[in-house]
Amino acid sequence: MNVQASVTQAGAREVVLSAEDLHTWFELKRWGMLRIGHVRAVDGVDFALERGETVAFVGESGCGKSSLARTLLGLHKPTRGRVIFEGQDLGALDAAGWRAHRARVGYVQQDPYGALAPFMDVRRILAEPLIVNGVNDAAERDRRIRAALEEVRLLPVEEFLGKFPHMLSGGQQQRVVIARALILAPTLVIADEPVSMLDASVRVEILRLLRDLQRARNLTLAFITHDLSTVRYFAERIFVMYAGRIIEQASVDALLDTPLHPYTRALLAAIPDPDPDNATHYKEIPGGEPPSLLSPPPGCRFHPRCPVAIAGRCEREDPPETTLADGHRVACWLHVGGEGA
Ligand code: SF4
Repeated sequence: MNVQASVTQAGAREVVLSAEDLHTWFELKRWGMLRIGHVRAVDGVDFALERGETVAFVGESGCGKSSLARTLLGLHKPTRGRVIFEGQDLGALDAAGWRAHRARVGYVQQDPYGALAPFMDVRRILAEPLIVNGVNDAAERDRRIRAALEEVRLLPVEEFLGKFPHMLSGGQQQRVVIARALILAPTLVIADEPVSMLDASVRVEILRLLRDLQRARNLTLAFITHDLSTVRYFAERIFVMYAGRIIEQASVDALLDTPLHPYTRALLAAIPDPDPDNATHYKEIPGGEPPSLLSPPPGCRFHPRCPVAIAGRCEREDPPETTLADGHRVACWLHVGGEGA
């Protein structure tokens, strides 16, 4: 696909970002020089994100979703394949191009305290990206900083401008991180487990804030999360990742109501029952741990854990991706050539 062709209309909306055959591998060395292999964190993914939509990338820890996020941000260089963002191939950017790219993609980290420089107050934290991106007028910076704090509802603004991160609650810190992610008016925001380190009482508030900001600004918002139980409330589409690959993608209703891949079914079955009297409210995905990304299994990567693996096929042959009539896509031999089991 050429660059021009990738900026097409998908459904009613414009594609703002597409990943094509994207691989991000990390070389593993022993004693600093002896190469012992590659960690295949992202190992051949294709997808497109549309303007103004909210998507979720889900999967267990170590499935490659955070490495994918960091590749889209430009923090990791793809080993193979490419990312096209607003018509530009990220692999062709020079230093100035990368600076402009980072201004158009906001990043909300998992750990807000770790993401904020402890020696800077809120005013300075929010001024940094403006200064780096050439907003030299102090009055204009001040106006934008105040507007950003109002948008994330840190009010009254005057009370927060001079505070350092350790003087804020976890929820307030994450609001500052969100304000910083939005202050350059990005097109795309990537939020990597944005509420997993917050108290349960503030998680819903932060998710609501992100949803409201996404709607108000028509942002493309990509959530990285291991928590399938909450995605129904904010995502339109879900990408399920396993061992460095996307193994199923569909609209949120299709995926949660009619999951096709045995791994997605296992993930959904493992959502804890909120009833504390239910002795089985903590459930596990059967079949042990996810595979090592250093040496993923041959054939279907889920086959060692799959309860319905087809003997003689699944452990040998990699399943191709099948696209069903409603656009639901799945990589599983059970669905090749039709709706499947
Ligand atoms: Fe299970 Fe085979 Fe489908 Fe993989 S391809 S999920 S092993 S049935």
